Parts: sequence; C-alpha cells; structure tokens
Amino acid sequence: MSVDLHIHTVASDSLWTPRALAEEVAKEGLTAFAVTDHDTDAALDETEEEAERLGLTFVRGIEFSCRLRNLEVHILGYFGDRSYGPLDRLLGRIERLLVEGATECATRMRAEGVSLPEFKFEGKQHPYVELSRSLVDSGEAKTLEDAFRIVIDPGSGFFVRPSRPVPAEVIEAIRGSGGVSSLAHPIRRGASMREIAEEISALQEMGLQAIEAYSPHHGDEGTRALLELARERKLGVTGGSDNHKGLLRGRTDKLADVPDAVYKQLLRLRDGLPA
Ligand SMILES: [Zn+2]
Ligand SMILES: [Zn+2]
Repeated sequence: MSVDLHIHTVASDSLWTPRALAEEVAKEGLTAFAVTDHDTDAALDETEEEAERLGLTFVRGIEFSCRLRNLEVHILGYFGDRSYGPLDRLLGRIERLLVEGATECATRMRAEGVSLPEFKFEGKQHPYVELSRSLVDSGEAKTLEDAFRIVIDPGSGFFVRPSRPVPAEVIEAIRGSGGVSSLAHPIRRGASMREIAEEISALQEMGLQAIEAYSPHHGDEGTRALLELARERKLGVTGGSDNHKGLLRGRTDKLADVPDAVYKQLLRLRDGLPA
C-alpha cells in the first residue's frame, strides 16, 4: 500500500497530462496521489476529475518556491482551498510576478534577435512553462527541455529571477485555508544535517507542519535522519517521487513507493490533530 504526494504535470515542468498520470497511478495501484506543480494550481481540477473517473484518491497540492534568507526553499501545500482570500491573493500575486518575469525574458530574447511574438499569458500553465512551449511551437527550441535551458536556467542570459514570497506568508496561507504545509526535499547538497535541522526549526516556528522525509533526492540514510528529526520535533512527514515524467535530466520517471501511513497522517494534520 503506497502513495506518492509529489508529482508534477504539464502545468509545470513535466510531461504528465492529468489523464496519463491518473492512468499510471491506477496501473501502479497507489492508494493516494498528489499533484504539486510549481506555483500553480492549473492542473488540479482536471486531475481531480480524472482521479474520480478511475476511483482514485487525489490530493490537491502546490509546490511553492519561497525565499528563506538567501536560500530558495520549496514548500508543499496540500488541500489548500482557494476560497480562502489570503491563499487566493498569494497565488494571484505569484502568478503576476511570474508573468512579468516571462514577459521580460521574452523581451530580452527579442532584443537578441530571436523571432518570438509578444508573450501573452493564457493561464493554463506556469508562465515560464507557457513561454517555453511557445519557443517550441515557434521552432526556436527543438524540445521543451531545450526551451527550459533558455527560460528557466539561471545561466542562460535570458533568465529572469522572479521575486519569491517568504515562507511565513506561504505557510500561513496554506494553513489558514485548511491545508497542510511540508518542506519539500529538505536535504541540500553541501549543507550539513545541523544546518538543515536549523532551517527546519525556523520554518516550524512559522507554522510548518511536516517535512518530506521520503524523496529520491536523498537516499535511505537521509530518510532515516529526517524521520528521526520529525519524531524529535513532533513534525509530520510526507513523501513523493518529485516525478517530472523523466523530463528533467537525472529525474525519476517512476512513481514513489511511500508508505500509505503518510497519507493518513496528512489527513490528521489537516484536521488539526498531532502528527
Ligand atoms: Zn522542489
Ligand atoms: Zn517538485
């Protein structure tokens, strides 16, 4: 009995359509799955419909990019309800910032002679992904991955770094809407476990409820250390594949095999019960 609570779709940087993903989840026999696209909820309604059609348990999620001091950290928000004003306004602001960034990126490219129409955001995907797809459609990039090297790679010369919300605002908006927050892939290359524990403490003080202990970004040893830390700090744990359908180099195209007790715990955290 396993779950996968961290999966990306075509609404961000993955090749999973909602239908193909739901069919894969059914084939793998997962008890529950979550879509957690970067900074957008554009694929959630459609994935929810596909999940219902196949009788699957689906969790609505978003992976927020935040700035913690000089670090970019990713916070997963589960069950967030957009009828809660602060969450809706936060998502609206993030989208505006990303549209501005994509527009500026397109302007920089045109200034360098790339023949690209003006960027007009349609709202069906992450703005940077929409711009990347338009590069493929116009023949300026052969594949989406090539387009990402121009639009999303900080070293491309065209990349525009969007300003990011602070974690406290994101964590509060998620919880206020009845959702659960979890720090995605907490282990960073080059950071000691002590530094990571300090970051987690700072986020917990802001209301963080869980950490992603199960992730292919770190090995079994990392999982053990994070499970131990979660136990000490009375934090919940989440887990998932961070699956992009093999789109990003070195990333898995397999769904995760996370114990389904993690999903049950997520429900308890949503309901305000201890981890
Ligand atoms: Zn991430
Ligand atoms: Zn992710």
